[in-house]
Amino acid sequence: MRALQLVSDRNLKIVDMPEPEAPGAGEVMVEIGAVALNHIDVWGWRGMAFARRKLPLVVGAEAAGTVVEVGPGVEDLKPGQKVAIYGAQTCGECRACREGRDNLCENVGGIHGFHLDGFARERMVTKARLCVPVPDDVTMMDAACAPITFGTVQHMLFDNAKLEDGETVLVQAGGSGIGTAAIRMAKAVGATVITTVGSDEKAEKARALGAEHVINYNTERFEGVVRKLTKKRGVDVVFEHTGVDTWQGSLFSLKRGGRLVTCGSTTGITAEINLMQLFQQQYRIFGSFGCAIHNLSESLAKMDEGVLPVIDTAITLDRIEEGLARLESRKVFGKIVMTMG
Ligand SMILES: [Zn+2]
Repeated sequence: MRALQLVSDRNLKIVDMPEPEAPGAGEVMVEIGAVALNHIDVWGWRGMAFARRKLPLVVGAEAAGTVVEVGPGVEDLKPGQKVAIYGAQTCGECRACREGRDNLCENVGGIHGFHLDGFARERMVTKARLCVPVPDDVTMMDAACAPITFGTVQHMLFDNAKLEDGETVLVQAGGSGIGTAAIRMAKAVGATVITTVGSDEKAEKARALGAEHVINYNTERFEGVVRKLTKKRGVDVVFEHTGVDTWQGSLFSLKRGGRLVTCGSTTGITAEINLMQLFQQQYRIFGSFGCAIHNLSESLAKMDEGVLPVIDTAITLDRIEEGLARLESRKVFGKIVMTMG
């Protein structure tokens, strides 16, 4: 079967791989339908962020597919069932796993596409409990955006920051995969959205997604605009994932008692914090990484209700370099999804 392998830095190859063995107890074989690209794939491509990476590595950290075979003891999944696949091999037994806090698993066996072979292959065997059924009306391409894109945003905005109807949220980099998801998911619960983008073209598109206020961060200081828009009060929640470039401004945009949730640092990892501001303003800051398995079901249910991922480009396996280059170029608005067919 075919797979997309990173053989050395910036060198991806479509290779022939042996078929997986039949699923064992509690396992299923999934035919991968679509893989959504993420910055994690770009890091891999560039050869960054891997202290002990083993190459070659099958890429792809976020995917959906169809169950084609079930192992002994699997009762809730049948061949033909469309599923979104949780990206980390959690133990399923530690306290965090038992309590549904899967991304805090104490014995995690690695993340697909990062430490373990990823999803960009025709078929794979995984644990049935990591496969979440996809509603009939949700497409394979949309479902492929559940495990990281929607799942991460669901976990950030609702488990961590507890965003509610009537509140205001600042979404940083609203044109990115998770930024577009955050705008749509925040709008869907009745929040007011302020977002930042890097061009007028993206501003137009962010407005079309429902953002009430869009700030071009290349032409305006976003924190000043946010203070003005909120009559100097600040926003209830900041959705951060850009890092050092926006960190100070993001904190300055929060109201007293506001919540900042972050899952990324694409512009750099070391930022300063004014501790007096932190405690006097009673900020709550959440670090968020990945999501729990229940966030996949919640995300898919939202998609079923019409809250859909924004897909910038659909590509086929042989056009992966083009997809990664587009992701890296920052021209992208929303997700790039690769079909395996
Ligand atoms: Zn565990």
